[in-house]
Amino acid sequence: MEDRLIYFDNNDTTPLLDPVVTAMLPFFTKAFGNPASLHQLGLEAEEAVNEARATISGLIGAKPEELIFTGSATEANNLAILGAAANASSKRRHLITSKIEHNAVINPIKRLEKDGFRVTWLDVDPEGFVNSEDLKKAITPETFLVSIVHGNHEIGTVQDIKALGMICREAGVLFHTDAAQSFSKVPLNVTNDLVDLASFNAHKLHGPKGIGALYVRGGVHLKKIMEGAPQEFNMRPGTENVPGIIGFAAAAKLAFETLSRDSAHMSAVRDHLIEQLLQIPHTRLNGPRGNRRLPTNADITFKYIEGEAILMHLSMRGVAVSSGSACSSKNLTPSNVLTSIGLKHEDAHGSIRFSFSKLNTIEETDIAAKKVIEVVELLRSMTAFVPEKHSETEGSGEVFYKKKKEEL
Ligand SMILES: *Cc1c(COP(=O)(O)O)cnc(C)c1O
Repeated sequence: MEDRLIYFDNNDTTPLLDPVVTAMLPFFTKAFGNPASLHQLGLEAEEAVNEARATISGLIGAKPEELIFTGSATEANNLAILGAAANASSKRRHLITSKIEHNAVINPIKRLEKDGFRVTWLDVDPEGFVNSEDLKKAITPETFLVSIVHGNHEIGTVQDIKALGMICREAGVLFHTDAAQSFSKVPLNVTNDLVDLASFNAHKLHGPKGIGALYVRGGVHLKKIMEGAPQEFNMRPGTENVPGIIGFAAAAKLAFETLSRDSAHMSAVRDHLIEQLLQIPHTRLNGPRGNRRLPTNADITFKYIEGEAILMHLSMRGVAVSSGSACSSKNLTPSNVLTSIGLKHEDAHGSIRFSFSKLNTIEETDIAAKKVIEVVELLRSMTAFVPEKHSETEGSGEVFYKKKKEEL
């Protein structure tokens, strides 16, 4: 049992559940039809897609015709942002976002910035929350879109989406939220929460990779970003990923059936691990506590050592985690999320994200915590940067750290 992998990287992706695989299988084999075909096989595929669309839209308080299937949450974000920009009048060339977005929002917005759009990048507070007053003040008559991530992928901050939505609705500005991480973990009702556009995917909730969706509120117009045949209400060309869509709906349905029980369980797993890890000297929790944090996420800074090294040593011991966000872990720029909540570069580099699914257990956190302690002690024994005393004296620790660095 020592050899079983402890998978604490569920904010990156999750394993498929058996019933999801079972639901998908016939659509790879017998029911392989193209939903655009007019014969029986095609009609069956079309019907299955329609049913999946009704299932998923129902879970977020939307109408089926308001849901466009895409290849990923990344594509949904691109369609929302680039599609809204392409449709905006020439007088509305301003958009607002936050400094803690996922690359799948940052980079389409950076492209618009290069193309001459003006962008306001809102600061967040030390727990990662966007301030509603800041948002209100940033909106001008030129603003056409606000895009704020619902549940943060690195530090788990869950924004008060309705408060932000209300400000946008009152100002007549489109409001988009990237809900890839929060979907089926915390409640979201696009109608009540006054959201105009929302991005989702399946692989963060035990569904397949390569399938996502964009909610587009009825009456909101986007310009499509790819040209082709008129699939997905003429908004997203390309033959539908039928097995993916079926798997997405099956996974979402399963997740919502036990949402409150699973959320409580994952929160307990999360908090149990946080409690144990914060007993290690020179650590800090990034992001808020309690129900303003995703139940799936714990992000901890281990000062004076490298996150990458912790990750590799944990991997060798059968624990899978992530250092910062997976997408930024392959380069040396520290995570935009961690620096935006005030972490110094070296502390951002010493941060590890533990992320959970309903399949994880309290027992796993006990085993993992022991291994983390072992690894942190090992790595710190090899560095000269750790202050002697193990009381968390930030000030003297930092002076020690800097001094040692200068000596080298
Ligand atoms: C995972 C993730 C994405 C990207 O989703 P893909 O479907 O893999 O493209 C976008 N935004 C957030 C917040 C995510 O966590």
